Amino acid sequence: MGYQELVADQTLCTGERKGSKLPCRGSLYKCVACGTTGCRQTQNDGCTGQAFSAGGTCLKCGARNSVLAS
Ligand SMILES: [Zn+2]
Ligand SMILES: [Zn+2]
Repeated sequence: MGYQELVADQTLCTGERKGSKLPCRGSLYKCVACGTTGCRQTQNDGCTGQAFSAGGTCLKCGARNSVLAS
């Protein structure tokens, strides 16, 4: 992967889907409480880069206040 691709992918999750092992490339969200960034999955432990549960709850601090990372 080249530098340009890395830059273009900055707002996409670089994690890997559990089970399917496919690149996630989901939208990244940022927790306004603790600053954690990661994707949001419909189930817990859905991606190695997951930071939020289906309801939008931060898996690190428990806050429910996340915004789309830019
Ligand atoms: Zn992800
Ligand atoms: Zn948080």
